[in-house]
Amino acid sequence: MAHQEEVGIHDFVLLDEITLQKFMENLRKRFSAGHIYTYIGEVCVSVNPYKTLNIYGPEHVAKYKGREIFENPPHVYAIADRSHRAMKQQGKDTCVVISGESGSGKTEASKIVMKYIAAVTNIGQRQEIERVKNVLLQSNAILEAFGNAKTNRNDNSSRFGKYMDINFDFKGDPIGGHINNYLLEKSRVILQQTGERNFHSFYQVLSSCKGSEMKFLELTGDPKSYHYTNQGSSSPPTDSDRMNHRATIAACKTLGFTAAEIDTLWRVVAAVLHLGNVTFAVDANSDGVKVTGDSAAKVSRLLQVTETELCTALTERVIAARGEVMQKAHTPVEAEYGRDALAKAVYDRLFTWIVKKINSAIDAGGFHHKATLIGVLDIYGFEVFDSNSFEQLCINYCNEKLQQLFIELVLKQEQEEYLKEGIEWQAVEYFNNEIICELVDRPHKGMFAILDEACLNVGKVTDEMLLEAMDKKLDKHEHYTSRQLCPMDKQLQHKTQFRIRHYAGDVVYNIDSFLDKNKDTLFQDMKRLLYSSSNTAIASMWPEGAMDITKTTKRPLTAGTIFKNSMIALVKTLASKEPFYIRCIKPNENKSPSGLDNNRVEHQVRYLGLLENVRVRRAGFAHRQRYDRFLKRYKMVSQFTWPNFRSGSDRDGTRVLIEEKGFAHDVKYGHTKLFIKSPSTLFKLEQMRAEL
Ligand code: ATP
Ligand code: MG
Repeated sequence: MAHQEEVGIHDFVLLDEITLQKFMENLRKRFSAGHIYTYIGEVCVSVNPYKTLNIYGPEHVAKYKGREIFENPPHVYAIADRSHRAMKQQGKDTCVVISGESGSGKTEASKIVMKYIAAVTNIGQRQEIERVKNVLLQSNAILEAFGNAKTNRNDNSSRFGKYMDINFDFKGDPIGGHINNYLLEKSRVILQQTGERNFHSFYQVLSSCKGSEMKFLELTGDPKSYHYTNQGSSSPPTDSDRMNHRATIAACKTLGFTAAEIDTLWRVVAAVLHLGNVTFAVDANSDGVKVTGDSAAKVSRLLQVTETELCTALTERVIAARGEVMQKAHTPVEAEYGRDALAKAVYDRLFTWIVKKINSAIDAGGFHHKATLIGVLDIYGFEVFDSNSFEQLCINYCNEKLQQLFIELVLKQEQEEYLKEGIEWQAVEYFNNEIICELVDRPHKGMFAILDEACLNVGKVTDEMLLEAMDKKLDKHEHYTSRQLCPMDKQLQHKTQFRIRHYAGDVVYNIDSFLDKNKDTLFQDMKRLLYSSSNTAIASMWPEGAMDITKTTKRPLTAGTIFKNSMIALVKTLASKEPFYIRCIKPNENKSPSGLDNNRVEHQVRYLGLLENVRVRRAGFAHRQRYDRFLKRYKMVSQFTWPNFRSGSDRDGTRVLIEEKGFAHDVKYGHTKLFIKSPSTLFKLEQMRAEL
């Protein structure tokens, strides 16, 4: 890289002093000049530019293809290229882990990685590979339509976690893939905070429901008409909703969805909207409730179930006691709860079904076992809202787990490399957030375990009692507090709130509805109803509807436990691959391309552990390079190595060059790589090169 041309320093490791101030200065300088990427060794720090940059075109792809990281200005392309080459050349699985808080640019970065990989593969234009690439790229449009929403942090916030494996053949071309999705924030279907929207899909369908093809959805087109879209923000659908609706349909076609399946998507979304408008009244003829209004009829037409059965499922439930089956009428509160639970569940199952459809379109089939892969992780970022609930606990816990992985792997990798190369080294201390992970997931004693225990006592335990139980069991934990434990803490409400000191900041959680969300029950009647749908796609989303109620005794796993298990499995998967990191930073709260808010950014630099990252990298060696690469780049500065070193190995050549130039005190010779201690040595070498 020509250092003279660059603004600031392209690798934080090369800073002359590692302080927060110097780090910030460099980040600010680069951001102001439009350089959003900076390295810490091989970790790419990315600041969300909030504007379109002209750095992703084909000429840029060409520039990064097959090149070493230090040969070009920092870019996500370089990381993508490294992960692809490492996989191809060494035959090992790699992964790109993208982390950062909500709105920091993770999803965009993951798409840039995927686009790069698509751009540099399949030189032979094989048709099947092209199809797979198309599906991989297009799947984003569908997943974002159904899984993203406008929040107060991000207009296109991922409300689900996504881990995508891309399988490659021996040529390094993508032959398939697989998506794992994690906990969709389904509570958003029925409730949104002020200023926020429901999932994009609702507005997409509302933007286009007037056309003759969508008439059968019986929608007005106005979010205000529907309870589920008339809360946080009820502004009408935008032009981009309309455009995105078309894009979603086009993407579905690419993926091989049939016309009936595409119809089903919108049927379910519309049915959820109508379901939100179902109301209940006390039934004078019985001791229960009855359905009022005409919304239920619309729901039944769209979900293709009978109206009578739908109304029965909404107003009463079947219970099995001692092998006998009885009907029990709902109270109005139960009926509303059941309706909302149905709406959430129907949407959630639709989302899972979509992921399954995508997976079957890109399944690498028999090649699977032989192929190597690159995993790309794009998951919801750490978030703090005015009101935080069970979902935020899961999301923030997930970020704790990923931070832990980063700590372990960055250290581990570093140490292993020194070991492998036969170089002595002393470890640098990190803040280890393991203690916070354990607060949440420790068996028997962690928050999820306490929650599960409370959920066992159906009906008897309230959210308030749950909080009491947590206070009792977690009172000694330095990252947990509540008003009960700390009466002077006026920011916490008595009996309803607790606070966790996360690695990324304090979050106050509201205990309200934790039990329900963890239990996540849906009356069996509703499952049976949907299983009976004459729409085969819908019926297939509800296989357990076929089960006999008197025989279903096994208690299903709770939402918290499922999530915890999926995170543990995810971390294990990632840890088994060679990781590459993109650490995303959100520059300000206003989604503005020009401002870098000092406090907000400093906070992120601190909690992401970026300074420690630089220190670890530096305490060891600022730079390391394979001997052949090193010589290729610098051989012209020494008479002994130019044009070629002929009296020994690359390692010998490197030693001759280093000794001639007086850098011997600053380097160590590994088995395959040269390790350079101070950045200035590299600078000087670069300078010599430039001055020739
Ligand atoms: P969440 O955790 O809420 O899903 P996220 O980290 O995935 O957040 P993104 O959705 O990727 O955040 O980014 C938020 C917005 O910032 C994007 O919609 C886009 O407008 C802008 N943005 C992010 N990265 C870039 C980029 N590289 N170039 C241009 N704009 C970007
Ligand atoms: Mg995202």
